[in-house]
Amino acid sequence: MNRISETTDIPVGISACVMGEQVRFNGGHSQSRICQNQLAKHFKFQPFCPEVAAGFGIPRPTMRLTGDPQRPTLIFSRPRADDTDEQEKDLSKQLMDACQSMLDRCEHLDGFILKKDSPSCGMERVKVYQPSGHPHEERGAGLFARAMMQRYPNLPIEEDGRLNDAQLRENFVMRVFAHHNFRKEVAEQPSFHNLLQFHSSYKYLLMAHNQVAYRELGKMLAVAHNEPLDQLLLTYHEQFMTAINKPASRGSHCNVMQHIMGYLKQSVESSARQDILNVFEQYRLGEVNLVTPMTLLSHYINQNGSEYVRAQRYLQPYPAHLGLRNQV
Ligand code: SF4
Repeated sequence: MNRISETTDIPVGISACVMGEQVRFNGGHSQSRICQNQLAKHFKFQPFCPEVAAGFGIPRPTMRLTGDPQRPTLIFSRPRADDTDEQEKDLSKQLMDACQSMLDRCEHLDGFILKKDSPSCGMERVKVYQPSGHPHEERGAGLFARAMMQRYPNLPIEEDGRLNDAQLRENFVMRVFAHHNFRKEVAEQPSFHNLLQFHSSYKYLLMAHNQVAYRELGKMLAVAHNEPLDQLLLTYHEQFMTAINKPASRGSHCNVMQHIMGYLKQSVESSARQDILNVFEQYRLGEVNLVTPMTLLSHYINQNGSEYVRAQRYLQPYPAHLGLRNQV
């Protein structure tokens, strides 16, 4: 069975200005070409603008976070011409009231792309100001972003700026597909059998990202068949999504590719296997990108591998034509 996903309508939330909507304080947008040109082929973007939903209007005064970086509040960052008292008005409750209904509509999402630096949407490193007007050294998250991460801790979330980094982009897209696959194959049809099938298909991808979690999850499933299913799925999902949260290193990819090579021992002659291993080494040294050894390995696995290894999502965790492995 080939479990490689070619899904084209994965629901992903996005800050509306990143989508190109003219909702910023000045009536402009911050459209991301990566989202528009590359990711929109597979993601069905659903735009959200917390500040417009809160009724702040377009255009509107700029806002900023102030107070404790761990529990900041949102205020207008400059006086309005007609009402200087607005400068100190705490807008947090008004924003968060609007955010609640938006967050309720995010249950079905498989990822979220946020606008960096925004006091509402920024995921991290947003400036938080002291009463003196100087920013704290410690940065914070925007109020909507913070509420989103608290409510959906397993949801893959990234910022538009960080998506310019090829490794972070590749890792984010992989996580979105994994989240989507878990939802479709396990959460919507919950059974221990479906969980085992899902885990089996992600075995080598898990191994590449986190060896410890790979072993722990395997051990957990080996003794879990009599446990309450609801709790098991929650625990597994949380640990699985945490395990794949960070990009895998070149050394780790090489280790996994060598494991997979073990399936070709009987069917591929040793000189050809040595050629493949040489390409793994080129990848480890940074001379070629991941797509090169993976294409070679996939070619031999598709011809000679068992059904089990051909179904490994590590070989193609998202559609190849996204080109993400050309850049990492
Ligand atoms: S950063 Fe968020 S709140 Fe600000 S304009 Fe964009 S979507 Fe709206």
